[in-house]
Amino acid sequence: MRALSGTTPSGENLHLGNYFGALRQYLAYQEKCEEALYFIADYHSMNVVRNAADRRRNTLNVALDYLAVGLDPERAILFRQSDVAEVHELAWMLSTLTPMGLLERGHAYKDRVTQGQSADHGLFAYPVLMAADILLYRADVVPVGQDQKQHVEMARDIAQRFNHHYGDVFVLPEAIIGEDTAVLKGLDGRKMSKSYNNTIPLFTDEKRLRKLIMKIKTNSLEPGEPKVPADSTLFDIYKAFATPDEAAEIETRYAEGIAWGD
Ligand code: AMP
Repeated sequence: MRALSGTTPSGENLHLGNYFGALRQYLAYQEKCEEALYFIADYHSMNVVRNAADRRRNTLNVALDYLAVGLDPERAILFRQSDVAEVHELAWMLSTLTPMGLLERGHAYKDRVTQGQSADHGLFAYPVLMAADILLYRADVVPVGQDQKQHVEMARDIAQRFNHHYGDVFVLPEAIIGEDTAVLKGLDGRKMSKSYNNTIPLFTDEKRLRKLIMKIKTNSLEPGEPKVPADSTLFDIYKAFATPDEAAEIETRYAEGIAWGD
């Protein structure tokens, strides 16, 4: 079995959403699979990062974060997307079989248009390049966060069309989504994302980390008033780190009326 996934170097640091949604699974599949390939999606980052020096720095930072969390070049192939330029040849071939309607349903593109913003062709066609990223390496499984599920399904759909016309060329990939942390929330309660500016970096100093944690949105319930874990972003983020016993203990303290500051 072969696993493949990638991370876009669109910010200075990877964040906790990347870790719980994706990197933690990358580590598991590095052990589970005969082959695991993890890349840094620098071509994809061109949709948002327009400064070349920033992109180089971000790319290097993702490489450092990959190594720091334990991805091991002895067990996985770590590479930069732009070092295999053939991915664009394949992206073109796939685009000749990709219906416009499929791309118009892409949530990254749809969100942009719904917000009344104009979109570039790169954003519109991004699922085709992502399909090429996956199909080129004949990946069986693609560990990703929930937000990428639709794009992996599009890759599967495009592969089926290609195989229908040209024979049995591509492996149909399957998205692997972690159950508990498929979508980690950010400081404001929306999905943690660089584009919402609500992230907690995976690696930062204690002072900055504390400051960010204090910014996580709570509500106006006073100390002593019972609180509901299901409504709490703070609890969601804590739970991602905690053991089941630790999470249960905090649930009890919520019911007893723990103060948000505590
Ligand atoms: P990206 O930075 O969009 O390239 O995402 C890299 C990986 O992190 C993808 O598999 C995403 O699905 C995952 N990811 C990003 N943000 C989150 C989040 N808030 N919760 C869970 N997974 C996420």
